[in-house]
Amino acid sequence: MNVIDLRSDTVTWPTPEMRAAMAAAPVGDDVYGDDPTVRELEAYAASISGKEAALFVPSGTFGNQLALFTHCPRGSEVILDEQCHIVQHEAGAAAVIAGVQLRPVDCAGKHLSADCVEKRVRVGDDIHEPKTSLICVENAHSNGTVMDLAAMEAIRRVADKHHLPVHLDGARLFNAATALGVQAREITQFADSVMFCLSKGLCAPVGSILAGPRKFIDQARRNRKLMGGGLRQAGVLAAAGLIALKEMRLRLDADHENAKVLAKMLAEIPGMRVNLDSVQINMVYFTHENQASIDEEAFVEFMKDKGILINGSDAGGNFRFVTHNWITRDHVATIARAVGDFYSGD
Ligand SMILES: *Cc1c(COP(=O)(O)O)cnc(C)c1O
Repeated sequence: MNVIDLRSDTVTWPTPEMRAAMAAAPVGDDVYGDDPTVRELEAYAASISGKEAALFVPSGTFGNQLALFTHCPRGSEVILDEQCHIVQHEAGAAAVIAGVQLRPVDCAGKHLSADCVEKRVRVGDDIHEPKTSLICVENAHSNGTVMDLAAMEAIRRVADKHHLPVHLDGARLFNAATALGVQAREITQFADSVMFCLSKGLCAPVGSILAGPRKFIDQARRNRKLMGGGLRQAGVLAAAGLIALKEMRLRLDADHENAKVLAKMLAEIPGMRVNLDSVQINMVYFTHENQASIDEEAFVEFMKDKGILINGSDAGGNFRFVTHNWITRDHVATIARAVGDFYSGD
């Protein structure tokens, strides 16, 4: 990449190895179950996530919505964090596809807790009440923080008590595993189903995985067809996905380290506010004490002139920089220098 693109880890291009594997991949019609590369990817994805079976899906949103659609009867209720991707960034799909009612919990910036879930579970016979059909957790959270295993286990216990399934939105599952220093399956053991993305920090161009019990995945395969997600010679995409899972998953600590170094450098800029404790994966959030008086568009333009792409700030005035495979340690110094130049008026 000749630009330094910090907008997200979704901007990652496929690696040269991926492009070569894509060109050479054996393929077949996957709707007939004939694509050997897709089958290999699904088997490998199931094994590393500790689930019986897995399904290749076009996107993370598709995988999450397919999970809701497969787990939940229409009109039932899903308990989840108000700030999670399913509530905030999936275009209201849960109402359209699964036809469920989302029950968002205001977690006040913390992770969804077992207590909060327990208080909201509705499994009685009162005809006024929707019945809870699913609990969703997100790890790593898209705010860049990681939920520990104890918190996940506690939610699992509440779910078991009420015979409810748990779906894990693990778009960045392997970032969470890397941050916690555990295998992914130690996290996924607390969920019935899990979605994880191949196309974020893992650099595959397209695709996500939904994994879970075989019966669930069989039904999800049917529902995927209904949603228009039956793919034909998808082996050209799965070939990149295999490299994502076999190789790119193992290098995420480099992105995390770069994020920490970047956060420290930014923190040294006078007036800069960086919450270093919240830098747990590949995301750095920061604001400046003079943020209100600063022309945000000018900042974005200033960075762009230096070959650095960033997004504008969120509603809270925070900027987010995301590190990934195409951001090197040298880039980190360049980025910090550019931010420093802007805030010092150079
Ligand atoms: C990116 C993301 C998704 C959705 O993935 P897409 O491939 O962009 O649809 C879901 N959940 C979380 C937490 C994400 O960060």
